[in-house]
Amino acid sequence: MSELHKFLFEGMPVRGMLVRLTDSWREVLARRQSAEPFDPPVRQLLGEMAAAGVLMQANIKFNGAVILQIFGDGPVKVAVSEVTPDLGFRTTAKVVGDVPATDTGTLPLNEMVNVGGHGRCAVTLDPQDRLPGQQPYQGVVPLSGDDGQSLTKLSDVLQHYMLKSEQLDTTLVLAANDELAAGLLIQRLPLEGEGNLEGKGKTDQDEADEDYNRIAVLAASLKREELLTLDADTILHRLFWEEKLLRFEPQQGVMGPRFQCTCSRERVGNMLRGLGQEEVNGIIEEQGRVDVGCDFCGVRYQFDSVDVTELFAQGPDHPPGSSNLQ
Ligand SMILES: [Zn+2]
Repeated sequence: MSELHKFLFEGMPVRGMLVRLTDSWREVLARRQSAEPFDPPVRQLLGEMAAAGVLMQANIKFNGAVILQIFGDGPVKVAVSEVTPDLGFRTTAKVVGDVPATDTGTLPLNEMVNVGGHGRCAVTLDPQDRLPGQQPYQGVVPLSGDDGQSLTKLSDVLQHYMLKSEQLDTTLVLAANDELAAGLLIQRLPLEGEGNLEGKGKTDQDEADEDYNRIAVLAASLKREELLTLDADTILHRLFWEEKLLRFEPQQGVMGPRFQCTCSRERVGNMLRGLGQEEVNGIIEEQGRVDVGCDFCGVRYQFDSVDVTELFAQGPDHPPGSSNLQ
């Protein structure tokens, strides 16, 4: 069963999380089988994005969806993962070109989404009860470091994002194959009452730095292969057996991360209304009906001419959905 583990390092301003998406991740891949399956490197990227999305959602106090998007300039045009506050996640990609073949099933970002150096990663926080006119919060970072060098791993991009946008030191390890999508996050918590630190020899700040740095080095030593093959208890024990770990009850089942699509006939109807009556009637004339498949879960929504007439007879438009992929 998919699971999320949260923990604190006792007496230190450092917290951590470990996510393992098992059945839920396999469901994402199984649903894709009916459409065109993604190439292995795209599957790996999406698995890592799903794991990272769950970690980021679980890491913030925010009542809304966390949407992770990569806008690529290579064969992968868009990759997205969305996670609701109750840890329901969905993920998909739009692939427009040939993804280079690879023996390992792994491709660096610069060969998939940042070929020309124009790739971007966007993190959007979309409030659940958005007020009229209220915009979601969005932060965007390039897929390169401060030195302009292209970053090869999603974890590096997101670490960079967390530092830039939240001013929080974060260490992330992500990995995915066709069985499992997993991630480890270690984050330094802001010190409370930082104004009280003056006038000491070795400040609390120095100690906090040492603690975080030591734990971050341990976390970063976790190999992709270990993350994919070891259970949560073994991983945490191997990495942190010398630290005092305070672990919370693991979140799984209905309380844990799971596949969940937020698509609905209503949302697809809103999208069609956004296209305009003339455009939609044109499709009806040409094809007899409008057939829209959800890229996330594979469900198909069909509208015939009666449905479309009804759709445009209804009241004012609702705001469009959070994703440009429906
Ligand atoms: Zn769907």
